Amino acid sequence: MGRIIERSMINWNNIDTVFLDMDGTLLDLHYDNYFWLTHLPRRFAEIKAITEQDARETMHRMFRQLEGTLNWYCFDHWATTLDIDLISLKNEVKDKIAFRPSAEAFLNALQNQNYDVALVTNSHRAGVEIKMAETSLGSYIQEVVSSHDLGLPKEEPQFWQRLNAVRSYDPSRTLFIDDNESVLASAKQAGVEHLAFIAKPDSRRDARQHDEFFTVHDFQDIMPIEVADG
Ligand SMILES: [Mg+2]
Repeated sequence: MGRIIERSMINWNNIDTVFLDMDGTLLDLHYDNYFWLTHLPRRFAEIKAITEQDARETMHRMFRQLEGTLNWYCFDHWATTLDIDLISLKNEVKDKIAFRPSAEAFLNALQNQNYDVALVTNSHRAGVEIKMAETSLGSYIQEVVSSHDLGLPKEEPQFWQRLNAVRSYDPSRTLFIDDNESVLASAKQAGVEHLAFIAKPDSRRDARQHDEFFTVHDFQDIMPIEVADG
């Protein structure tokens, strides 16, 4: 991996494994927010011949009950509960799927320097597939761990132990980047040493600063830079 200049709160010399969240970390959360908060209620109202207001209220209630659980992230659950073809509705607005600024450059640098990289997501496999088809994400990521495969969302500290059982990593030499503070808190509790929080997951919303977790405003600020020895 060569010698690395320390440029930030992240000391790349102490890191072997990098776990990356997908939505809101590598990819712009605008797509997901737009889909769930605007497109889905609108299309659901059309399909079910109800008012958009009623559709919104129905969904709001459902979302609140399930937030942070695996079902909240489960396409099959929503497709069944709402009785709709969720995948085709998702595809209707797929032109909004995009990388966050500098995400590709960051992925490229990690790949060039042979870090052990995996996508660790709460997204359903079908959601990952839509995004891989619309971006070049798959060319940088060889390994995808979906929490649906492990039976627990990333919000549960036990998730991180299960992950280690199916895919070994040293928590003390692992960097995990996510835009969800509950997920980062769970990883911290499970002993993951290096944690970073994304300031601006949705390009259309304001940036946030986290008090506890190192906050990434731009991947350019945490780029692993390799320098010639000597
Ligand atoms: Mg996320």
